[in-house]
Amino acid sequence: MKEFTWENYDKRRILLCGPFHVCMSVLLDFSDSYKGTIYICDNDYAGDDYGALAEDYLVKCIESYEEKGIYIREMIREDISVLKTMDIRILSYDDIGGFRDEYVILVGKTYFKQYCKALGFNGLEDFYSAVSALKKGFAKQYYFGYFTSLYRKQKEGLYIGGVEIVLTKRCSLRCRGCANLMQYYDKPDRIPAETVIGSVKKLLSAVDGIAMFKLLGGEPLLEQDLIAQILSLPELRDNRKALGIQITTNGTILFREDVLKVMQQEKRLGILLSNYGDISSREAELKKQLEEYGIAFSEIGLRDQWCEWGDPKHLYHDADRAKYLFDYCKNKSFCTTVLDGRFYTCPRAAHGDSLEFYDEKSVDLLAPVETEVLREQLKAYYFREDPPEACARCLGHCGIRTERATQTNGRMIRI
Ligand code: SF4
Ligand code: SF4
Repeated sequence: MKEFTWENYDKRRILLCGPFHVCMSVLLDFSDSYKGTIYICDNDYAGDDYGALAEDYLVKCIESYEEKGIYIREMIREDISVLKTMDIRILSYDDIGGFRDEYVILVGKTYFKQYCKALGFNGLEDFYSAVSALKKGFAKQYYFGYFTSLYRKQKEGLYIGGVEIVLTKRCSLRCRGCANLMQYYDKPDRIPAETVIGSVKKLLSAVDGIAMFKLLGGEPLLEQDLIAQILSLPELRDNRKALGIQITTNGTILFREDVLKVMQQEKRLGILLSNYGDISSREAELKKQLEEYGIAFSEIGLRDQWCEWGDPKHLYHDADRAKYLFDYCKNKSFCTTVLDGRFYTCPRAAHGDSLEFYDEKSVDLLAPVETEVLREQLKAYYFREDPPEACARCLGHCGIRTERATQTNGRMIRI
């Protein structure tokens, strides 16, 4: 791939291909050389989510490094304000086709092969290495390294990119394409509070850090006592253990006032509001509530299409293809899942196991073992190289799209 040089840069607009959080660090590096709209191609529609959270996320990452005694010396706070003045647009693979000669295309190292494939598919073969566009030594040495090492490549400690704590398998909606397989539960039981709380406490005691600690379901607002209890846990209030905290809701239920008061105390918290149009019937009221209590939120889900994950009971791939998908799947870093007291690679692995579609390996967080033993078990599992059973039954990264939030005719759970 060609090397980029700022000396020969011809002032065309820039399209950066890479996961959003990595692109943000690149932007900070060359913001003084480039003014104008930056287009970022995240490797799927999740780009929207990162976009909404990016600045906050970046600050938290930097702070977390400092807490660990790692200082990104030239990285001054004013640099971050640059991001506010930049016009940043997020694109998906599907949008790249429109970006032809008038753009300089820079491709980062993360998900490199996938970007090359997507660009090639869209007839774009003339691109440069994003790393060669970095000017400051610190960015190359630290920034790229730290952002990625915080996640999967950091094998010295146990730092996890993202954990989804499933508070309930019940949902107020029943979306046909639900990535978390809610549509397959018939009459889901409530998960006992002691199972959820116990597993969160054990997990937080065993890990060194989690970049994004997420509470979701199903619909997590069906279990608001659990939200308040988890946010009050001393293990979570320890700032070193979670950089960001997120609750994802589908906009059909309001928060209780007592829970809002607890949420208000947690400055790391952000709410992701999935807006599915009319069926997110309380979205406007929910936003009003959050504004009133000064709780950060961002809205996602406005796109018309979702990624098609496929039928979890159908075997789509052979072992080699399943391994390939697993190797390039970001969910194993960002969407590890805690369900029924067990730690899984991703929501599909977790719910597929719970629904008995397949027999998935997991780590029992509630087993009576010492924290050090649990930590080693989690480490071995998190850094595993063999794909979970679920990968052979997953279309998640095959680029197929489906209608968003189409409701099934099956039984809806009554609230
Ligand atoms: S709202 Fe839809 S996509 Fe979200 S958890 Fe419920 S069923 Fe799944
Ligand atoms: S089943 Fe495999 S490919 Fe699908 S989301 Fe999970 S880890 Fe990724």
